[in-house]
Amino acid sequence: MKKIYFIISCYNEQDNLLILTERLKEELHSILFESFELVFVNDGSKDKTLALLQELQREEDRIVIINQSKNFGHEIAMTAGLNYVAEQNIEADHEFAVIFMDADMQHPPEIAIEMVQLWQNKHKLILTQRTDNEDKGLRYRFLGNTYYWILNTLSDVKIPRNMPDFRLLDKKYVLWINSLNETDRMFRGMLSLVGLQNAHIIPFVAPKRNAGKSNYNFFNLYKLAIDSVIQFSIKPLRIATFFGILGCIFSIFFLAFSIYSSYINHEPKTGFLTLLSVMIFFCSLIIFFLGIIGEYIGRIHIEVKNRPLYFNEVLKNEKE
Ligand code: UDP
Ligand code: MG
Repeated sequence: MKKIYFIISCYNEQDNLLILTERLKEELHSILFESFELVFVNDGSKDKTLALLQELQREEDRIVIINQSKNFGHEIAMTAGLNYVAEQNIEADHEFAVIFMDADMQHPPEIAIEMVQLWQNKHKLILTQRTDNEDKGLRYRFLGNTYYWILNTLSDVKIPRNMPDFRLLDKKYVLWINSLNETDRMFRGMLSLVGLQNAHIIPFVAPKRNAGKSNYNFFNLYKLAIDSVIQFSIKPLRIATFFGILGCIFSIFFLAFSIYSSYINHEPKTGFLTLLSVMIFFCSLIIFFLGIIGEYIGRIHIEVKNRPLYFNEVLKNEKE
């Protein structure tokens, strides 16, 4: 038996769920693939998402709802879905795969079906690459480019550009990713850690969101950027040390030069502004690097506590 799990995280997606479910079922039916499960992770939605999912579930018993106790964020929602699938298949000897999708129709169902077919042809890891995103303007593109530049310069894992969380992982990859038990999670990075060499990549144009609005804003992206760098590298710490050494050497020369010019050359002692600007510069540098160190220590603090990543309950069809 071969089974596909669709993991779909939803935060306030009431207006997208019906059309998504219908389209997926239609497409799967058209290729005669009936052994699937739609795992919806309700990430603490404030609208009618949960009620709607329960309604859909009454008509379709291949729907499972993972109801998070509050909003934990997209990455954690995907983790909850993945854990569920792994738990269901702890000793499974059948083949299975997971497809991660967004609920807002920005990840077209027909591409998900293409993934299913490729998987049947023995592809084990299928990723997608956005060639364009009809939903995002210039500002987002600029932020996106900067994000990837910083990430790939500073981080130890190389993360390919424009690869959304729309992907298929075969059993082996599901178990590998599931074995990474860090609290701080970023799927893109974790996948790179596991290895992307054998991935098959499908390019696609992301259409506009069907309904509702995007949950990502500047602060989310900022957090994602910091997280991505710090989780996968200690390079920023090394850069801090490097600047520290450089600053030291510079200040020794500066001191030597001032002693020389005022005591040996007897030039008048001026340069209050120079002194001030040098001081402000170095003080800000120190604060900046203390911030970086703080980010790492904060993460150690969180990681050491080793709290559960989320709390949820799994709602299955009552008929079972
Ligand atoms: N999402 C989630 N939890 C959150 C924010 C978003 O599960 O806290 C889901 C959301 O419902 C959608 C997916 O993650 O299915 C991507 O979110 P969104 O469309 O807001 O991001 P964008 O496509 O703009 O990057
Ligand atoms: Mg979206």
